Amino acid sequence: MKKIRFAGSCLCKAVAYEIEATPKYFYFCHCEQCRKLTGSAHAANILTEPATVRWCRGEDQIKRYDAPAGRQFTHVFCRECGSGLPFENVSGNALFIPAGSLDTDVDLEVTRNIFWAEAPNWTRSGLSAKNCPGFHG
Ligand SMILES: [Zn+2]
Ligand SMILES: [Zn+2]
Repeated sequence: MKKIRFAGSCLCKAVAYEIEATPKYFYFCHCEQCRKLTGSAHAANILTEPATVRWCRGEDQIKRYDAPAGRQFTHVFCRECGSGLPFENVSGNALFIPAGSLDTDVDLEVTRNIFWAEAPNWTRSGLSAKNCPGFHG
């Protein structure tokens, strides 16, 4: 794959970034850790070769959490609004971009639901629930 330009920001717009990187995988992760950190059904991450994150603003607003034990696990987020932001993993062999933080469309498809065995029943029913264009329908 060739390099793609990614640009994103947090919800409160304090932090913004740009990355040029070669994507390897785009996946939804259903593991318990990703559910906890997003407060949602799954994470949506683009994993790339190691690449530099250019922080356009708000680098001093970023907080990093590395889980002390168990599965290698990192969460980088805006101190003000809590939105997930890109990070390099502890071993430094990959960059993770939370797809929900992107402000630009990317021509990539999600190809894997990983840790599906850990998905709760409500994820399965949620994915087949009625689609509403707005709040209710
Ligand atoms: Zn923010
Ligand atoms: Zn996960």
